[in-house]
Amino acid sequence: MKESLETLLAKIPMGVELIAVSKNHSPEEIMDVYEQGIRDFGENKVQELIVKQPLLPPDIRWHLIGHLQTNKVKYIAPFVHLIQSVDSLKLLLEIDKQAKKNNRIIDCLLQVYIAEEETKYGLDFTEATQLLEQSVALRNVKIRGLMGMATFTDNIDQITHEFRNLKSFFERVREQYFDDEPSFSILSMGMSGDYEIALKEGSSMIRIGTAIFGERNYKKM
Ligand SMILES: *Cc1c(COP(=O)(O)O)cnc(C)c1O
Repeated sequence: MKESLETLLAKIPMGVELIAVSKNHSPEEIMDVYEQGIRDFGENKVQELIVKQPLLPPDIRWHLIGHLQTNKVKYIAPFVHLIQSVDSLKLLLEIDKQAKKNNRIIDCLLQVYIAEEETKYGLDFTEATQLLEQSVALRNVKIRGLMGMATFTDNIDQITHEFRNLKSFFERVREQYFDDEPSFSILSMGMSGDYEIALKEGSSMIRIGTAIFGERNYKKM
């Protein structure tokens, strides 16, 4: 499934951001992709992120894309660029608190649940709307958009349907809550197996691991 970065980049329309998902890949492998011009990298575990971050160039923008435990926010608050996996008020309050301690405003996405599979993580549309309303008072976090993952399946119609649903929810939220604000602009959807569908359905940020780095070797890190 690995493609050359050049081939991949050629398929990505203007205005869409590419996040290279480097989980389970070594700093050397990350540097290889960095040297080809990529600056946005995504990790799903705090423990792995805080080991790698000091070893790599300071102009990397680190994205947290996996489930984040409240007690681990403090480790990434000084440097994280975008937390894509906000799924509770408790977590958002802690991000706000740690951002304040670091004199920062931390950009966040709400993780919205669109897949058919059972999962513990992500908000439904009602919960996401509630969390948006509750976030208005928080000064040190900024909700920049939504993140979602489609069902892991070969059924293109199903994936299309799930992404389309998220896109239309995104547009509704943007109209209702962010009238004139361009800050709510990120719709993060699409991974190695489904990014082409996600792009068709209006994604503005894709998170690609395997197609850039090759298969993950879970014993390596
Ligand atoms: C691992 C992961 C990705 C990338 O998956 P690939 O299939 O390797 O491209 C994207 N998003 C999230 C949330 C992930 O955990």
